[in-house]
Amino acid sequence: MILFISDLHLQPSAPATTRAFLAFLAGPARRASALWILGDLFEFWVGDDDLGDPFHADIADALAALGHAGVAVHIVPGNRDFLLGAGFAARTGARIENEPVLLTVGTHRLVLVHGDAECLDDADYQRYRRRIRSPLSRFVLRHLPLCARRALARRIRRRSAARGEGYARTADLDAGAIASLFRDFDADWMIHGHTHRPALHPHAVDGRERLRWVLADWHDTATWLEVEPDGVTAREGAG
Ligand code: MN
Repeated sequence: MILFISDLHLQPSAPATTRAFLAFLAGPARRASALWILGDLFEFWVGDDDLGDPFHADIADALAALGHAGVAVHIVPGNRDFLLGAGFAARTGARIENEPVLLTVGTHRLVLVHGDAECLDDADYQRYRRRIRSPLSRFVLRHLPLCARRALARRIRRRSAARGEGYARTADLDAGAIASLFRDFDADWMIHGHTHRPALHPHAVDGRERLRWVLADWHDTATWLEVEPDGVTAREGAG
């Protein structure tokens, strides 16, 4: 059994969600062979040197404990935490994966993405995404002091709030981009997060039925998908 979660947006100002995550790692996640975190685990991640912060250190330690219990942890970074890197991987034992990822589950071919790269209707966001994730930006970000990166993160969040970018208004994934992923990976299943609009969508691509699950965001309680060769089940609560 493989578990999938995303969009926890962990932050010190939402302690109930953090408690739910720690309980999930100590409880339901222990029964899985692997846990995949499909992005936006953190509300913001400004660099692996921020592991010195006790809030981040507690979460990293809990992930490491899950790994020690024999559960493989994989992270596909999201738009909020795309700077998760080798330092976080070393500290937690988690593998940081480059999207899109293809997994084989029984006879099914499953594609995994966070989901922001496929929201093609939001041209402004795609422009920003290309800029902030470019090698030059990453180089500059790596060499900025931690406090400067924290200030930059606050400014980006304020600007995004001022633009009214609530999740109700987040662009949805582009139908063509979804079809391309299914086609390129010869996949029949897809899981992603990002939009905070949990659902199961059927797609017919090239005359073949495919299924796409959208993960739920977390608000005070755990919510995840359980994937087994014979199907996918949505779960929530303490499990
Ligand atoms: Mn996101």
